[in-house]
Amino acid sequence: QTYPQLPDSCLVVLIGASGAGKSTLASTWPVSQVLSLDALRGAVSDDCGLQEATSDAVDVLHLLLECRMARRKFTVVDATNVTKSAREPLVAAAKRHNMPVIAVMVATPASVCVERQDPRPANRTVPADTVRAQHKAMVHSHPTLLAEGFNEVLFADSLYRLEPYLEQISN
Ligand code: ATP
Ligand code: MG
Repeated sequence: QTYPQLPDSCLVVLIGASGAGKSTLASTWPVSQVLSLDALRGAVSDDCGLQEATSDAVDVLHLLLECRMARRKFTVVDATNVTKSAREPLVAAAKRHNMPVIAVMVATPASVCVERQDPRPANRTVPADTVRAQHKAMVHSHPTLLAEGFNEVLFADSLYRLEPYLEQISN
């Protein structure tokens, strides 16, 4: 097992701005265990970056999550998840099936997230102000995660180690 601090059967919700490294971290798990919003945008529209496809992709993600939670399958949600409204249905699905739900914050500095947009293809580039807003929302989320129902909050460092805390979240 790659991450001994995670139960065999739980929901992992990645939280972080675009470019933070969520999908890179997610790639350390078997592909069938990762529900990627980007991949599902691609599944419904042939274009992973098509923002207009997001709401359909979210619907599909929630359906797949429900099926996996009902089977008590270890599952990772790879999406920014920086808003409470995005996280709420994920936590609710886990709770319906008495599955532990763990937040993993990918708290890469905003400046790095912005720089990492440069080499991306045009349809996958997120504007710098959007990335900074996502980063700020991620930072503001941190104190409310336990109250939202997360059983644990971990931080992923640059070596993909999952730690219970960071000394600070830098901007
Ligand atoms: P999005 O929300 O837009 O999908 P993301 O959080 O999934 O973004 P990734 O695509 O995983 O971000 O990573 C963005 C870039 O950062 C990639 O080029 C990746 O190779 C690089 N990267 C990710 N994690 C690390 C790391 N720990 N060290 C160095 N580079 C990294
Ligand atoms: Mg990604």
